[in-house]
Amino acid sequence: MEHFLSIIIPVYNEEENLENLNSQISKVLDGAGLKYEIIYVNDGSTDSSIDVLKNIAVNEHVKILNFSRNFGQTQALQAGIDIACGDVIIPMDADLQNDPLDILKMLELYDKGFDIVSGWRKNRHDNIIRVIPSKIANFVICALTGIKLHDFGCTLKIYNAELLKKIRLYGELHRFIPAAVSIFGGGANFTEIEVNHHKRIHGKSKYNLTRTFRVILDLFTLVFFQRFLDRPVYFFGGCSLILFLISVFAFIISFFTEYMFSFAVLFITGWFFFGLAFLTLLIGLIADLLMRTYFESTGKKVYNIKEIS
Ligand code: UDP
Ligand code: MG
Repeated sequence: MEHFLSIIIPVYNEEENLENLNSQISKVLDGAGLKYEIIYVNDGSTDSSIDVLKNIAVNEHVKILNFSRNFGQTQALQAGIDIACGDVIIPMDADLQNDPLDILKMLELYDKGFDIVSGWRKNRHDNIIRVIPSKIANFVICALTGIKLHDFGCTLKIYNAELLKKIRLYGELHRFIPAAVSIFGGGANFTEIEVNHHKRIHGKSKYNLTRTFRVILDLFTLVFFQRFLDRPVYFFGGCSLILFLISVFAFIISFFTEYMFSFAVLFITGWFFFGLAFLTLLIGLIADLLMRTYFESTGKKVYNIKEIS
């Protein structure tokens, strides 16, 4: 099948990698006779990355987006997706850790009828502080979302552009795109393939443990949406019911106690939990109202039709 590829590359302080990266990608894609564009998104680099990119941009395939400051890899990726013209979108890192040669075998697999082909860095060359949280994250995402992929964090993936353009990426969501596509985009056909991974030679990794915390919050949001997107009141209602039962329990045992002090403590605890139950229910109703506004104002449906015959 003939494709037009949009390669999207977020760049944050990668001056020493860019020329080499660009010539490697061009060599592979020109060699295979593919049609493509490479979109570099300079994410507020403080080194000379933008100058290097401007030199590279003499190549007709290259487009550059230059951010006013550092917004983050996810935001850079989203900006690239917004202007991508291809029918398939292929994000890559700028640090030469991904291998452009893998694109060819991934594309072959994509043509067998998949919407997403995910790279799996089976032989990963990062330090232990990056690898262990990532392994835990993969396990948790897989368990919570039911999507069976080994390496959510591998940037190199092939996406059906139409599907990817249906969703918006926030926070650190670039790690969860397959899950986000499945939840907000109405489902997708996934597969994965082993890809090469090289050690970073120039520049430093931009990630550390503090970012892992944000990733956990993003994952929590995603799982919440997966279960309760169109009816958040079910979640809050469940919490409210638990709080209400605790309050009833406190009231009941307060009447069986002999001491005035413990009666007072239990009675106040009962009212406290009753108040919390009431507030939680109210939050649920407001969240429900927000979701209705979201679905109705954007014209989004609470279902997704695969085909009509
Ligand atoms: N990156 C970015 N903005 C950021 C952090 C990273 O555009 O705020 C880019 C970075 O230049 C690289 C890619 O995202 O192209 C992946 O970053 P990095 O190699 O530091 O991540 P790691 O491979 O360690 O997960
Ligand atoms: Mg890297």
